[in-house]
Amino acid sequence: MILVTHGHSDHVGDAVEIGKKTRAKLVATFDLSAAIVSALGYPSELADVETTGHMGGTLTLLGGEIAVTFVPAWHGSGVSRDETVPSVYGGTPVGLVIAIRGGPTIYHTGDTDLFSDMALVSRFHKIDTMLVCIGDHFTMGPDRAAEAVKLVNPREVIPMHYGTFPVLTGTPEAFERELKSRKLEGQLRVMKIGQTLTLDEAKDS
Ligand SMILES: [Zn+2]
Repeated sequence: MILVTHGHSDHVGDAVEIGKKTRAKLVATFDLSAAIVSALGYPSELADVETTGHMGGTLTLLGGEIAVTFVPAWHGSGVSRDETVPSVYGGTPVGLVIAIRGGPTIYHTGDTDLFSDMALVSRFHKIDTMLVCIGDHFTMGPDRAAEAVKLVNPREVIPMHYGTFPVLTGTPEAFERELKSRKLEGQLRVMKIGQTLTLDEAKDS
């Protein structure tokens, strides 16, 4: 499975090539999936209704091994084949809640600002691992991201979406300071480039 939160090129990345090579199914919203198939050439048979949903909906996949819920995110989602032509409509960006049977529940915020409804995610799922954007400029920065962690209260938080471009000024260090001022720094887990992470099993809260 390849899960994509929105259509921007730094997120779609090599999804089409990887999908063609591995036959992985594309998990995305209806509009984003249609745009990635029509504009970028993702194989349509790997992006059918089974793995296509929309906000508020949960897809049960891999024979019940995972459940993916699409939740809101505040961002854009245009899909562009090349930067010289206007982007194709990719619908509304999303965050994803991925619940693994017998394993952790992961909340990927997508690219977004802080918003108070993030707190609702934890009303339906105890979040073990939260992937939160901290880069600033195109998403929330460290201070607003720390406030998002406070709303969701995950067991651990992994910062993402920083350092990609020079304008993304948010750093894990600044994020740690913001977590510390809210007494949340114990939840921080910073990944290294190229690192693969094995997540622990879910723990009952
Ligand atoms: Zn984006």
